[in-house]
Amino acid sequence: QAKLAGRNGLQFFTPSVQERSIRSLRLTNALHQAIQRGELSLEYQPQLELNSNLIFGAEALIRWTHPDLGPVSPSEFIPLAEMCGLILPISQWVMAAALQDASAWRALGSTPLTVSVNISAVQFDHGDLVSMVIDELHAEGFPPDRLELELTESVTLADPEKALAQMEQLYAQGIRLAIDDFGTGYSSLSYLKRIRAHRLKIDQSFIRDLVINEDDQAIVSTIVGLARSMGMRTIAEGVETPEQLALLRKLGCDEIQGYLLSHPLPQEAFLEFIKTPVPFTLLEVDSAEQIP
Ligand code: C2E
Ligand code: MG
Ligand code: MG
Ligand code: MG
Repeated sequence: QAKLAGRNGLQFFTPSVQERSIRSLRLTNALHQAIQRGELSLEYQPQLELNSNLIFGAEALIRWTHPDLGPVSPSEFIPLAEMCGLILPISQWVMAAALQDASAWRALGSTPLTVSVNISAVQFDHGDLVSMVIDELHAEGFPPDRLELELTESVTLADPEKALAQMEQLYAQGIRLAIDDFGTGYSSLSYLKRIRAHRLKIDQSFIRDLVINEDDQAIVSTIVGLARSMGMRTIAEGVETPEQLALLRKLGCDEIQGYLLSHPLPQEAFLEFIKTPVPFTLLEVDSAEQIP
């Protein structure tokens, strides 16, 4: 807390910066009670496998509704939680809640769905990520190979060797690993080679203008080829249009996630979603033929 105040105190003293500092402090204080007060929840965004046209899993995304300020984006409060150490209890809450919800999907579905949980890089440096995850899996009796952890590539790890050792332990348990926001970070290919990731998540910044931007097409095609040669799958994030989907099929991307398929859904709505067949005619393979 003192560190946060000190940091902001050094910033240029424009009103907007001051306002943002006050908001950050207020949010950080409120975050301490958010778990106990039941202000946190999860939403699930379905993921589609393009060859089979089947939903194979969903990403858990945290939501926080502040009693006065309303919904606060995780992009705003997760960094605050990382700075003040609250990321550890919050992550444990997320893990427990996600595994509990995903157990209910298992009871329903014919195919076993994978649940993806976002992991903060801070967790590799502090706390005991490996035993936290294993304990929660045991508590829920959840199969480890149906859990995927998403690690954001855009964060530089303070101690890469220590992080790798923990990833190995998770791998040994059968837990899957995905590299999130791939293409936006600084990790070298030699480091990537040593991570036993199951999946590369192509960052949505490469998908946004994919249809009109040839550089983005080249990047996506390169990531797909890289992943293939290293035995990993690719999933495109932020897919919003049928045109993007058609092009991604053509470029050989394995899976998609995005508003085109579904927005992130609360548990009840997600259960409804997986009970009904994928409703889009635009998910048919021949839509790829319409690309000029
Ligand atoms: P992320 O893991 O890369 O998640 C993808 C973000 O893109 C989510 O934003 C999702 O709602 C959004 N998204 C999905 N489809 C589309 C689309 O078609 N178009 C656009 N424009 N956006 C789409 P969200 O939920 O606001 O989360 C933001 C970030 O916060 C996440 O990025 C992740 O880094 C972090 N986050 C979310 N939940 C957790 C959590 O439980 N733990 C941790 N450590 N971080 C989390
Ligand atoms: Mg993610
Ligand atoms: Mg991402
Ligand atoms: Mg992100």
